[in-house]
Amino acid sequence: MKNAPGATGALSDQLVGRSGTNVAPLHGALWLVRHGFPVFPCDHPASPRCTGLHKTCDGSRGKHPAVAFTRAWTLDERKVHETFARGLRNPAVAVGACSGPNGTRLLVIDSDRPGAIEDVAAAHGETWPTTMRVLTAKGHHDYFWYPSTLQLGNGLGALQGEFDGDVRAGNAYVIGPGALHASGALYELADAERPPVLAPSWLLDALATQPTFTARRKSWWDASHPKGYDRARGLVAFVLDSPRGTRNNRLFWAACRAAEDARNGRQDAQDALLQAALDAGLDEREARATIRSAYNRMGATA
Ligand SMILES: [Zn+2]
Repeated sequence: MKNAPGATGALSDQLVGRSGTNVAPLHGALWLVRHGFPVFPCDHPASPRCTGLHKTCDGSRGKHPAVAFTRAWTLDERKVHETFARGLRNPAVAVGACSGPNGTRLLVIDSDRPGAIEDVAAAHGETWPTTMRVLTAKGHHDYFWYPSTLQLGNGLGALQGEFDGDVRAGNAYVIGPGALHASGALYELADAERPPVLAPSWLLDALATQPTFTARRKSWWDASHPKGYDRARGLVAFVLDSPRGTRNNRLFWAACRAAEDARNGRQDAQDALLQAALDAGLDEREARATIRSAYNRMGATA
């Protein structure tokens, strides 16, 4: 990470030069497509308001996709020029759309602090390989190829509770080099000449392993908890512990109990249940719909 020059001025003053252009996103996006990474535009913190596609913005500026990125990415340099020269947009990589040598797929390990993943590697008796790395505001993104025969998603697998960060290998995106973080930090390539290497097998084994209930529960208890945590302990454990194929039914049952509590004026556990459902691997839209229908069933307002 490097702070943008003149970090005291307004973001737009720092980044938009005398020619009226902000070249960092364009350069980053061009570098990405020239290296085979599908690119799309996200919001840029220097634009007056968020240009994300969402209905309501949660305020984390510079990170929200400005297009439906699973379809609207490009590898075309001309299109990149059009998109990133026209206004302030951060470049991002459509991870699931990316295909590497011999049909490999892209895996990005997002460390929330410098050295987070190196610590995990050391705990496994391994040395973290040098690979393509993008320095972010808080840590770094490490890029790898992995065989398409593996079905990786965005889950931490057996690294849950062990790794401070995220995994992006499925239908997901990462903010790319040349992007500006709301803090004023620029996303930058650690070394523009270094391509991704093949992901180490111990890492792939760990990611492909379902986390144990104990690990899931531990990481859940250790994390900061949404409203309703105290009351929700038992219900949350029930959802976290769901074997595949039962998660939605269990969530529905737990949400009915939470709705009863809410109706009776006790603390509402629905935020805690939603978080637990996501941690158990349920899709957010599906989980929200299940909770809503449980609340409707019990005559409570979700
Ligand atoms: Zn937004």
